[in-house]
Amino acid sequence: MSRLPPGATLGILGNGQLGRMLCLAAAPLGFRTHVYGPDKNSPAELVATSSTVAPYDDEAALAAFARAVDVVTFEFENVPAHAAAFLSARTQVRPTYKALEVAQDRAQEKAFFAKIGAKTADWRPVNSEPDLKAALEDISGPAILKTSRLGYDGKGQVKIKSAAEAGSAWQALTGGQTTHSNGAFAVLEGFVDFSCEISVIAARDVSGALMCYEPAENVHANHMLATSTVPARLDPKIAAEAESIAKRAIEALDIVGLLAVEMFVTRSGDILCNEMAPRPHNSGHWTMDACGTDQFQQLVRAVTGLPLVDPARHSDARMINLVGDDVERLDSYLADPAAHLHLYGKTEARPGRKMGHVNILSPRSG
Ligand code: AMP
Repeated sequence: MSRLPPGATLGILGNGQLGRMLCLAAAPLGFRTHVYGPDKNSPAELVATSSTVAPYDDEAALAAFARAVDVVTFEFENVPAHAAAFLSARTQVRPTYKALEVAQDRAQEKAFFAKIGAKTADWRPVNSEPDLKAALEDISGPAILKTSRLGYDGKGQVKIKSAAEAGSAWQALTGGQTTHSNGAFAVLEGFVDFSCEISVIAARDVSGALMCYEPAENVHANHMLATSTVPARLDPKIAAEAESIAKRAIEALDIVGLLAVEMFVTRSGDILCNEMAPRPHNSGHWTMDACGTDQFQQLVRAVTGLPLVDPARHSDARMINLVGDDVERLDSYLADPAAHLHLYGKTEARPGRKMGHVNILSPRSG
């Protein structure tokens, strides 16, 4: 596939808020969008040119979707392997499933970071309660037990303070069920006493050209991203190393698209990689108002065969996630010319549900 002309259709697997912002970014470049996902009236469906509402295992719907689009990308990494393989046999899927597979599994992800010379917290694969006890002996001090797959925003995680908690932690993670896994069902990670959390989003186009957004400093609350701030308060050497890790990772995975890498910076200045996602990322939403070209448009450019562009941050920014009933208190943002509001079109504000975000800009400080 060469460069797609205006009027071509970008297919997006998944129809949540990331898909919505991707559709909005595709429009100024002249592209149509077709979103595919199981939920009706989803954030993306409300703004896409067309939409298929069907489960990910509906082969007839997937085949029709593949015929209707010129290229497919995705807005979340837990795309079932079968759906990705089915689509890849019929149309161009960017990035390829190989990148998804690594990011879907924490154990594979950590092994991958080691392969590219990046550090992680000390960790062990865990498939049983005896495994967990042994791992807790190896990793002394507090630790976090995480399911390898399908965990997000703190779901599928248990903090463990001492080896005496092994039984209750294993029970909490598995619900007492016998676990089955081809690789590691869970990983035990040493608890990192970090000085800050950062993330870097890298982009790569069809020619292999790379660019990357500077690190954002992230603060989490209740296991969920609360704010991202740029510039991050980082030693320039640490910032450069973080960017180098993201670039090495996107290249090693041969991704055409985006890769977001989340990292801890320790008090001694080490960078420990936590996880990665081959898609637009919540911690990159600041780019929507603080840069000439945001993460969504960069992804559209990459997967449609257009060149990437220097994103040139023109402002400092703080992104604040609007979660649950935060969305009922918008008046101060609506009155503030520095506040750029992005709501996702969700009508029901449940606790813990991401309803939107706001980017607060100030003149660039450095
Ligand atoms: P995760 O689902 O792995 O992204 O974890 C969500 C958040 O929990 C992270 O962004 C951290 O704030 C915290 N967290 C996860 N793993 C660790 C760890 N090993 N040490 C300290 N904090 C952690």
